[in-house]
Amino acid sequence: MKTPLFIVLLGPPGAGKGTQAKRLAQALGLVHISTGDLFREHLKNETVLGQLAQSFMSKGELVPDDVTIKMVEERLAQPDCEQGAVLDGFPRTPAQAESLQDLLSQFGVGVKVAPLIAVPDDVLVERLSGRWMSTSGRVYHALYNPPAVKWIDDVDGSELYQRDDDKPETVRHRIEVYREQTAPLIDYFLKKGLLVEIDGTQAIDCVTENLMKAVKEA
Ligand code: ADP
Ligand code: AMP
Repeated sequence: MKTPLFIVLLGPPGAGKGTQAKRLAQALGLVHISTGDLFREHLKNETVLGQLAQSFMSKGELVPDDVTIKMVEERLAQPDCEQGAVLDGFPRTPAQAESLQDLLSQFGVGVKVAPLIAVPDDVLVERLSGRWMSTSGRVYHALYNPPAVKWIDDVDGSELYQRDDDKPETVRHRIEVYREQTAPLIDYFLKKGLLVEIDGTQAIDCVTENLMKAVKEA
């Protein structure tokens, strides 16, 4: 059996983690685990966890660590994670990073590489204000990654929507939360020798190419 491969994509909201995580997961034959998508799925299914998460997500705050870690633990226990995963939006706090290390020890591995997709704040606001989502998780942008038909998902024809937390005032708060609570992880992964900074302002294909290179060289 191949050694499982776990990749952590770091970066502020709007950096392109979701866009790139899907591409990497497909190219490497791994699952894509987005904690934001998992919370949104719970919300859609009207679970207790979904309602709890929504009270934090709508304000641009982080969902408490214990709840988030338990959800990831359950996800990683599923058989499709045996070969590894591309983690997107997790860990987001030092406590989550420590828990991830514990969780991965059951696979006999640690995080292989933690690319940081770096994008300046003004670009993030522009990206998130033009982000169009499909209910199946695909991500478009009004200008930079438009669907063939405006507001319609290319793959399943469903109507696209804008996330409530992509409103400019919530976006600004999410960026602050990132700087305060998540940015310390840059140093955490740097000290472990796992951080690779990638210029996230380049075109989507170019960012994918650089990420694939970082993974291959890890
Ligand atoms: P994150 O998951 O980090 O919040 P997304 O992958 O959802 O970010 O990307 C945010 C928005 O920016 C989306 O609308 C996406 O289509 C767009 N986007 C992603 N990468 C790029 C890029 N390299 N150049 C321009 N737009 C991008
Ligand atoms: P995202 O889809 O990654 O932008 O996440 C959307 C929202 O979900 C965040 O603003 C948080 O409220 C919540 N969330 C996602 N991942 C985490 C996490 N690892 N820890 C805490 N909250 C999270």
